[in-house]
Amino acid sequence: MKLLILKLMDSREFRKQAHVLADRMADYFEEVSKYPVKSQVKPGEILSVLPLSAPQTGESFENIMSDFERIIMPGVTHWQSPSFFAFFPANTSYPSVLAEMLTAALGQQGMIWETSPAATELEQRVMEWLRDMCGLPGFWTGVIQDTASASTLTALLSAREKSSSFRINNEGFAPSDRLRVYCSSETHSSIEKAVKIAGFGKNNLVKVAVDENFAMIPALLEMAVKSDLQNGFTPCAVVASIGTTGSTAADPIAEIGKICEHYKIWLHVDAAFAGTAFLLPEMRHFAASLEYADSYVFNPHKWMFTNFDASAYFVRDPELLIQTFEILPEYLKTRTRGQVNDYRDWGVALGRRFRALKLWFVIRSFGIEGLSEKIRQHIAFAGWLKEKIIEHPDFEPMAPVNFSLVCFRLKPDGLTDKDDIDKLNSSLLQKLNESGKLYLTHTRLNGAFVLRIVTAQTYTTREHVEKAWDIILQTSTEISGQVSG
Ligand SMILES: *Cc1c(COP(=O)(O)O)cnc(C)c1O
Repeated sequence: MKLLILKLMDSREFRKQAHVLADRMADYFEEVSKYPVKSQVKPGEILSVLPLSAPQTGESFENIMSDFERIIMPGVTHWQSPSFFAFFPANTSYPSVLAEMLTAALGQQGMIWETSPAATELEQRVMEWLRDMCGLPGFWTGVIQDTASASTLTALLSAREKSSSFRINNEGFAPSDRLRVYCSSETHSSIEKAVKIAGFGKNNLVKVAVDENFAMIPALLEMAVKSDLQNGFTPCAVVASIGTTGSTAADPIAEIGKICEHYKIWLHVDAAFAGTAFLLPEMRHFAASLEYADSYVFNPHKWMFTNFDASAYFVRDPELLIQTFEILPEYLKTRTRGQVNDYRDWGVALGRRFRALKLWFVIRSFGIEGLSEKIRQHIAFAGWLKEKIIEHPDFEPMAPVNFSLVCFRLKPDGLTDKDDIDKLNSSLLQKLNESGKLYLTHTRLNGAFVLRIVTAQTYTTREHVEKAWDIILQTSTEISGQVSG
């Protein structure tokens, strides 16, 4: 009689496969620059080779891994490639990956102190470290959220409750609650999403115009606030950005902060990408006057070599945050309440991953010096590239280079039609990305199609940036020839 041959994975098999996987992962990091950076598969290609239904009987780990190599790997875009210059990075690093392995093994669910005292207390300490490492106001209190989007939602919900004295939490929005939120026209889309989710209504998001550097114009913010007050609205929150997604523009925090203080408006500052730069004292002029902020977010999972997800959210007043989110069903009542942080009350989700562990590993393994050195290099790469672009007659920079993002476009002499220039740059981008040698993305600034190159991947060196510039020059020559010929 034939019995079940395949058995469930046991500890011996786990140990064996874990060793194999460790080697596979190390190989991956050593060879990551050999893969096409942007996955070259077509829509539906992966889906079409995946079985329509789940297997009836268990399969061997070797089988699963072989399909991983055959089916999954070709459909992966290599965010950890040193030639990944797209979006903003989602950096990892060796210590971060190792910590994620441990996190997975421990499988903590740190919703309250009692369910993982170490996760809770390490989070508290690591957030103090992050705050102080980046020169942020010492009176702030931090908590880890999954993403900047969730942090901003948390901020807007707190602002809503503060301005309604916690009435909206109980009664919902009344027709007379005409709360307004302000941001710049360059602000990240997650703000609009949060405004919708938090019930303000998209029409109550006021987008303030920006100056020639793509930074919010404070005088226009104040005009909008005054006009809203005259028309019976209640100004509730301003979201300022340090490092917008399009061009890493920095809104003037001091001037915006003074307006918020005067009109008693919540100030939330979104520094999702650029916040890591404040490790460097020479970059902190962008963070001056952050004491005005009621809340602040930056993502170590972007530029601080820590696996997605880990978003650092700081508030001036944690009591207000807790009051906004607190729920206390019988089954969550504990004897330690009040003596410790129960982070389930510090954000949207109840359940929480042990995210502090990877931050702890990264910060200790790099040290503040190691982190700073890498960030400084990344900023220098962008500075080098900016010079190359300025020097070249066929290219132009399209925004100030504040951190490690360069916005530019190809504009050969004689090409003046706006649509033609856009089309040329769009084809350039497509050709570059199809080459598999590097990956960039684009944005629009003042209506123009602009290429973005972010020199901030963990493993990017000066050589990778030089090579990228060579490929851009070469590809531009090829396609400009086609356009003018
Ligand atoms: C990336 C980014 C976000 C969104 O970050 P998530 O963590 O993915 O939600 C928000 N704001 C800015 C400025 C960003 O660069």
